[in-house]
Amino acid sequence: MAELKIELIAIGDEILLGHTLDTNSHWIARRLVENGFRLRWQSVVGDNESDLHHQLKRAWKRADVLILTGGLGPTHDDITRPVAARFFEDELVDRSDLREGIRERFTLRGLEPPAGYEQLAQFPTGAEPIPNQHGSAPGIHYSRDGRELFSLPGVPIEMRGMVDGYLLHHLEVWREGVFSCRILKTTGVGESHLSELIGDPGALEPVRLAFLPSIDHGVTLRLSHVGDDPDAVSEVLGLAERYVRDKVGKYIYADEERSLEATILDELRRRDWKLALAESCTGGMASSRLVSIPGSSDVFERGFVTYSNRAKTELLAVDEALLNRYGAVSAEVAQAMAEGAHLRADVDIAVSITGIAGPSGGTQDKPVGLTYIGLADRDGTDVRRFRFSGDRDTNRRRSAQAALNLLWQRLSE
Ligand code: AMP
Ligand code: MG
Repeated sequence: MAELKIELIAIGDEILLGHTLDTNSHWIARRLVENGFRLRWQSVVGDNESDLHHQLKRAWKRADVLILTGGLGPTHDDITRPVAARFFEDELVDRSDLREGIRERFTLRGLEPPAGYEQLAQFPTGAEPIPNQHGSAPGIHYSRDGRELFSLPGVPIEMRGMVDGYLLHHLEVWREGVFSCRILKTTGVGESHLSELIGDPGALEPVRLAFLPSIDHGVTLRLSHVGDDPDAVSEVLGLAERYVRDKVGKYIYADEERSLEATILDELRRRDWKLALAESCTGGMASSRLVSIPGSSDVFERGFVTYSNRAKTELLAVDEALLNRYGAVSAEVAQAMAEGAHLRADVDIAVSITGIAGPSGGTQDKPVGLTYIGLADRDGTDVRRFRFSGDRDTNRRRSAQAALNLLWQRLSE
């Protein structure tokens, strides 16, 4: 069994210059995995004939399937069509069928075809056109020497239409191995501690284990395996998943691509609980994450953004004396904020966040990154202290994540 070796080249100066984020490559990589394939190599080249030619040459030596995205338009900087034709020692000829098809697209909408549209009908003789449901430029499909090249447009919607409507069907025909992965998402535990708890990854062989840490989503674990038979692959992955869950199950909040916020909302709904948040340094970030999930209104009652001391006193009934004595970033104030939100919003559970995001405002006693999170429900109030070490943005995101993590832990007790 040999897995298909798939290579992707994104083409465009705009990507190299940082004007455009290469979302096409990201999307294609994910789509392939969703369908049991994966990329082996990926690169970006500018709108430069000789660079593209060299990149094609290198890729064609090693890949079974080569996917290009970009440079198929009618303007002078769109060079993929002529470069591909030259690479295969092929020539471009006027395809009247393609030309008519493109013209019709415009006349159907009552429009004149744009100047230069005939360019798009200049098509390599040895290639198949790939239909474009969302635009004018056809894609190009070459089959040579048992290898395949698919040249797709750069415009995301056109590219996606060709991947789903054409490329994936063709890949199915040459499928030689099935690649599959399982995603297990953890929170409240660091990457190195997770790795220690799981132990030697060799015990999972032939399944591969990857650790994917992030600021906002905890550490995601990816188990992956490739084999001939989808059922066998799935079974082997299932065994590996059980092994990992045995060791670190208590940190796993979701499988697949489910978010922590969606998991929290489900748990609140199951208990028929209402939630309120009181946020200082995060300025509503944790609330915003929860509200980004459809249906959050079932359980999310309100969020207080209490940035100033006055707001904490007025909206959450935090005692002024407490603020003066301990300061806004203190365990005492975090507790009072959570209890104030619990009472004022009349909810089942409330979470507070108060911290020093930086870059200024830190002192010897209270350094930048110091954050307190409070959690109040009918059984009482817990306060946890954190010391983050990032810049302002990172500290705020970590604070929001820590608050959601504590909330989830409390709900999954
Ligand atoms: P092109 O097909 O090269 O003329 O690209 C047309 C437009 O599609 C560009 O101006 C970009 O806005 C967009 N585009 C091209 N390549 C990419 C890519 N790899 N990722 C995201 N957008 C892209
Ligand atoms: Mg371009």
